[in-house]
Amino acid sequence: MIVIMKQGATKEQVELVVKRIKKEGLDVNIDQGTEHIVIGLKGDVRGMQDVPFNTYEGVEKTLKISNTYKLTSREFHPGDTVVDVDGVKIGDGSFVTMAGPCSIEGLEQIRECAKIAKAGGAQILRGGAFKPRTSPYAFQGLEEEGLKYIRQAADEFDMKVITEVMDEGHIEMVAEYSDILQIGARNMQNYKLLQAVGKTGKPIGLKRGIAGTIDEWLNAAEYIAVQDKSPVIFIERGIRTYETATRNTFDLSAVPLIKKLSHFPIIVDPSHGTGVWDLVTPMARAGVAAGADGMIVEIHPDPKNAWSDGQQSLNEENYMKMMQEVAILNDAMEKIKEIED
Ligand code: PEP
Ligand code: MN
Repeated sequence: MIVIMKQGATKEQVELVVKRIKKEGLDVNIDQGTEHIVIGLKGDVRGMQDVPFNTYEGVEKTLKISNTYKLTSREFHPGDTVVDVDGVKIGDGSFVTMAGPCSIEGLEQIRECAKIAKAGGAQILRGGAFKPRTSPYAFQGLEEEGLKYIRQAADEFDMKVITEVMDEGHIEMVAEYSDILQIGARNMQNYKLLQAVGKTGKPIGLKRGIAGTIDEWLNAAEYIAVQDKSPVIFIERGIRTYETATRNTFDLSAVPLIKKLSHFPIIVDPSHGTGVWDLVTPMARAGVAAGADGMIVEIHPDPKNAWSDGQQSLNEENYMKMMQEVAILNDAMEKIKEIED
C-alpha cells in the first residue's frame, strides 16, 4: 500500500501521515517524486485498509499495490530512477557500457582489458575476483588480490568498477574496491545476501537468476530496495530453457517489461545471454533496440587463453566493431525516443 500526497503537500502534513502509520506498527519509505510525495508502507499492511488516510489533509489517495514488490514498482516511483555511479549515470537516457574480462587474471591482463574497454567507449570496468564456477575444481578467482588489480586498472583509465560479491562475509572488502556490487545469477534468491548488500549504499547490479521469473527478480530487488540505501540495476543475462544451442536463452522482452513494472534501470549481458562470442554483437545491438540503459560485456585480449568464459569473450577488434555499431543504434534510438514522446 502507498499513500500519495497532493502536489504541494506540506512537510507537517506528511509527518502526520507518517506518525499514524508508525502508530499502527509499520515503517515507511518516502519517495520525493517530482510531482508527488509518495509514502510507502513497510510491513504487513493487512488491517491498514481501515485507516482513514483520506481524511488527513494533504493526502490525495491511497493505492493498494497488488504485487509484493512495492518500492521497486513504477506505482511507487513513476519517474525513472537514475543511478549515479560516482558520476556515471545509468538510466538517464544514455547507454552505458561495462566491459572487461570474466575473471581478473593478473594486473597486466586487467590493465590491458581496461585500456581496450576505455578506448572503445566503456565507462565501467567489469571483472570477477570471486567467481561462481560450476565445478569446484575450476579457477575460483584471485579474491582480494584481484580486487586490488581491478581498482588500480580502473583508476588508471578513469573508469568505475563492477565486480561480484558472493558471500556476506566479503561485502565490506568488495565494497572497498568496487563502485557497483554485482549479485550473480546464482545468488538472485540469496535473500540474506540481498539484504546485506542493500545496506551498503552502493548501487547493486542484480543479475537475473538462471530460472528466475520476472516476478521473482522484482521481489529480489525489493529485498535490496527495502533497506532504503542502495539503488538497483537489473541485468538480464539469459535464462535456462530447453534450448542447448546457446548457453542461455537471452530474454530481451525483459527489458521493456522491467521498464514498465519498475523505475530502476535495466542493462543487458549479451555475453552470458548467448555464451557464444559471435552472437554477442548482434544481441548487444538488439539490447539497444529493446531500450536497455546499457550493457555489460566480456572482453579479453586473448580469448583463447582466458581463464574463464573465453568462448563468449570478444577480442579487441570485435569489441571495437561492436561499440561502433552500438553507437550507430544509439543515435537511431534518440530519434525513436522523439517519436515515442
Ligand atoms: C559473470 O558475470 O561473470 C557471471 C558469473 O555472471 P552470471 O552470474 O550472470 O552467471
Ligand atoms: Mn563470465
